[in-house]
Amino acid sequence: MTVERSNLNRRGFLQWLCWAAPAALYPVEWVHAAAAPQVVPQVDLRFITRQMALRRRHEWTDIAPNPARLRAANMNAYDRITLHHTGEVMRGTTEGAVINCLDGVLNHHLRLRFGDIGYHFLIDAGGRIWEGRSLAYWGAHVSGQNERNIGIVLLGNYEQQRPTRPQLQAMQQLVQLVRRQYRIAAGQIYGHIDLGRTLCPGRNLYPQVQRLNQQAV
Ligand SMILES: [Zn+2]
Repeated sequence: MTVERSNLNRRGFLQWLCWAAPAALYPVEWVHAAAAPQVVPQVDLRFITRQMALRRRHEWTDIAPNPARLRAANMNAYDRITLHHTGEVMRGTTEGAVINCLDGVLNHHLRLRFGDIGYHFLIDAGGRIWEGRSLAYWGAHVSGQNERNIGIVLLGNYEQQRPTRPQLQAMQQLVQLVRRQYRIAAGQIYGHIDLGRTLCPGRNLYPQVQRLNQQAV
């Protein structure tokens, strides 16, 4: 699906949606969370950490996820990846600036009553990869299409900015490792714009996302 790009007002409105989406755009995940204890799968991220540095969730936040508002994933069922931008122009690449940004996204999602940050992984302009929500839980990043869908966000607004080379390399490598791990087929890498009414991940990033589908795994 494509979104009409000629209407500037519409672009002005839509470009912020990924970052500032009202709760109505997402499934309200806590409504669906099981009241009974869930079987939460174990996740082993060595398929990533053996190959590249990954800043773990506890390294950037002390705020614990709320499992009562999360839905346990079926690890064998992940079959697609969706790429996003935060929609907030990002200039700093120091760890402090990046952690401030991650905190902002997490707190925004908690205000929407998500059980945790919506994305599974976040990539900054320096090419660092940060763990978000555990893969043990379905994400909250595409309205109505979060099951089986791994969410990766690049920090920045790629309607206005261009992704950096280290950031694109990190994205490419992470997507490749995730695809290999979960046997995600060619054609199953999406930009948010393919699945919903948004300009996310932005016109300067979307072509790179499409290219990931051609990548050999
Ligand atoms: Zn998005």
